[in-house]
Amino acid sequence: FAVIGAGPGGLSVAYFLKLKGYEVTVFDSLPGGGGMMRIGPPLYRLPIESIDKDVNYIASLGVKFKFNTTVGKDISFEEIYKNYDAVYLGIGTTVSRSTHVKNSDKAYSALPFLKENKIGKGVKVGREIIVIGGGNVAMDVAREALRLQHIQYPGEKVVTKTVSLEDWDIMPATKEEIEEAKAEGIQFNPGWGPKEIKVEDGKVKGLLCMKVKSVFDEQGRFRPTFYEEKEMFLEGDMVIEAIGQVPDFSFIPKELFDKLEFTPRKKVKIDENGKTSLPKVFAGGDIVNLNLDAVTAIADAKRAAEGIDLYLKGDK
Ligand SMILES: Cc1cc2nc3c(=O)[nH]c(=O)nc-3n(C[C@H](O)[C@H](O)[C@H](O)COP(=O)(O)OP(=O)(O)OC[C@H]3O[C@@H](n4cnc5c(N)ncnc54)[C@H](O)[C@@H]3O)c2cc1C
Repeated sequence: FAVIGAGPGGLSVAYFLKLKGYEVTVFDSLPGGGGMMRIGPPLYRLPIESIDKDVNYIASLGVKFKFNTTVGKDISFEEIYKNYDAVYLGIGTTVSRSTHVKNSDKAYSALPFLKENKIGKGVKVGREIIVIGGGNVAMDVAREALRLQHIQYPGEKVVTKTVSLEDWDIMPATKEEIEEAKAEGIQFNPGWGPKEIKVEDGKVKGLLCMKVKSVFDEQGRFRPTFYEEKEMFLEGDMVIEAIGQVPDFSFIPKELFDKLEFTPRKKVKIDENGKTSLPKVFAGGDIVNLNLDAVTAIADAKRAAEGIDLYLKGDK
């Protein structure tokens, strides 16, 4: 049995299936397990050692891990699909979305920023940082950015501010995250949307924003509208976009991908056993759920492990 993605979902499905006696191999691009939990939450919130403890335990049960292995590059999906009895897709949402406003190519993206600081060489930050986004990831980015500023510019005046479409009452980050960010000195600009990153001589000078009229339409769909003429300019020498992530299915060849059905909210459609519409492929975690958290990914994995067990026993 093969698992693609060693996030909380992939690790859990591997664990549950190993306990049932199956041979399990887990593939992941990263150098270790944990998925987004490994590279996302900053070190002060989630140390890598605590993740490795769990991964090592699962490995000690006999689960095989192939880290630093990107499916679609180091091994093809077709090969895995052909050689294993079933496959679990736990690939999460690993690509940061961009605002695509003018000069957005000058902005950092949340995930590479967090990853580089957690398992890479670290990022040289600016003195005045603007984080676009109002969710928990934006809070992690802002709080990490402010810590880096204090380390890199000790004793100097530094500022990290967020700007979000959502006003306080609908800000997606949890109250706790917002309160902690405020307590650490993060500034907030709720109810403003990005219009353009201002650049002079190749250097970021700030973010031009426009006032938000509404974020959702009458059907509750995300469809922001703006008062284009009501502008605000936020000064800053670094912009980080933290406005959500999307999955990367590019490793699945077209003829197989075409068989994979999605929900209207663009999530992979699964049945009550965690099975997708693509034969012998199961899925769970962030590519399936609307609430993007580790506990839901683990719950999916538990359900899928039962479904996979039934499937492999022949009750297909
Ligand atoms: C900054 C940040 C902070 C967060 N904080 C929390 C928190 O405090 N609490 C909480 O519950 N949740 C938190 N989350 C959300 C949580 O990390 C996710 O909901 C959860 O990790 C999703 O698990 P998953 O199993 O779907 O896969 P993911 O954790 O997304 O992992 C997917 C894995 O698949 C691998 N992969 C993808 N494509 C390929 C490929 N082609 N080949 C090989 N490997 C591949 C990736 O490398 C990755 O390791 C946070 C997320 C972020 C980004």
